[in-house]
Amino acid sequence: MKQGISRKKICLFLSLSSLILLIINPFFFHQKISLSAFLIFIPANTFILFYLLRFFSDKDALALTQAENIKEQINVINVEIEKVRDFSLSLKFKITRYDNLKKVIEDLTRSLRLEVVVKVLSSTVYSLISNSSGIVLFYLLDNHSQKLNLIHSIKEDNQTAIRSKEGDIFDYWVLRHSRELIIEDLKNDFRFDLDAIRSREMRPVLSLISSPLISHHSLLGLLRLERDKSGSFNQDDLRFLSLVSGLGAVALENSLLFQKTQDLAIHDDLTGLYTRQYFIGRLKDEAKRCQRLDQRLALMMIDIDFFKQYNDKFGHTAGDIVLKKVSFLLKGGLSELNPLLCRFGGEEFLVMLPGIDKKKANAVAEELRQKIEKEKILLRRQNTSITVSIGLACFPLDTKDDDELIQQADKAMYDAKRKGRNRVCSI
Ligand code: GH3
Ligand code: MG
Ligand code: MG
Repeated sequence: MKQGISRKKICLFLSLSSLILLIINPFFFHQKISLSAFLIFIPANTFILFYLLRFFSDKDALALTQAENIKEQINVINVEIEKVRDFSLSLKFKITRYDNLKKVIEDLTRSLRLEVVVKVLSSTVYSLISNSSGIVLFYLLDNHSQKLNLIHSIKEDNQTAIRSKEGDIFDYWVLRHSRELIIEDLKNDFRFDLDAIRSREMRPVLSLISSPLISHHSLLGLLRLERDKSGSFNQDDLRFLSLVSGLGAVALENSLLFQKTQDLAIHDDLTGLYTRQYFIGRLKDEAKRCQRLDQRLALMMIDIDFFKQYNDKFGHTAGDIVLKKVSFLLKGGLSELNPLLCRFGGEEFLVMLPGIDKKKANAVAEELRQKIEKEKILLRRQNTSITVSIGLACFPLDTKDDDELIQQADKAMYDAKRKGRNRVCSI
């Protein structure tokens, strides 16, 4: 640039001096323009012209290069701006996610009911990770069988059927490794046999994230999100799922313990049947429901005959075995009728059969009596058997009052005792 300017000065000097010579020449020498003036003027001006042309073309080229450099810099800055924008968007997204965690914790602590905890966790990950699309699956682990059990799912498309109610190879991978799983593109994930998965499960899965629900080192189940598109989840999604699962597992454990306590409170420890108090509450509800829907309800009071003698002969432990056996026979014999079974006290049982009329109830009771009578019970290497007396009362035919219904069934059972036991009597 500096060199360009000094050359320009020389050119200007030569050009001016040649011009002056050309002008003053006729005055001093009284001649027309001299040859010497021509000889200086023409090459000097040609040179100047040439130089000026070069100078301006150089300047153009320089300006072009500078413009390109600036464009390049603008592009770089644009890319940077784009990156910053993406970063701030992802940051905003993360902030929204983590802000929501507070609400999740509040929702989880609000209820100890298992269904509430499961729904809060599933809907949280569905909206905050999957953006309310794809599928969420919630599995609980059965400690005895070590099998998974699908207890809740959210599906974008309600037509999609979940066949693997006990989990598939991805779920058992998570269980086996006790850690999170991410599959960004199933077609390129060689850990799993795609054909084997397709043959078993019709729904298309191309990407998924799954996290075990672990509390106090015990595995309670797993939470899984899946999509029919590849690349739907990233490491951030997996981290968030893992965080929600960690929080959820504690709430889940509490709700499972609460459910267990509740179950223990309403079930008799020896037979596993409902307790007297719980049964009476349910009878009240069922009676109201039957009245509203104009339906029948049958109630059976069942008492083991001469149970005291049985206890005296074989011992109390043998008596307990008999009580368990009778409960088992009641469950099996009535399973199709959707019964509610209760150990009313000692060796007395109550059976509620909603929607069953007196005629049908009589037939069912008689069948049950015969079944119990025929059952062989092996005690102290002796084949024994027992009999029962059954009293029957029906709602609303015999009474519309639920308390009175129990009394009537009891009265009918005492009738059966009086008439010689091992029989069914109704009011
Ligand atoms: P009935 O034919 O008149 O019903 O005679 P029963 O001997 O069955 O009736 P009773 O009321 O005289 O005796 C009931 C017995 O049931 C007395 C008690 O020892 C026994 N029993 C009550 N609860 C249990 C229990 O939990 N386990 C065992 N093994 N026996 C029980
Ligand atoms: Mg008895
Ligand atoms: Mg009794």
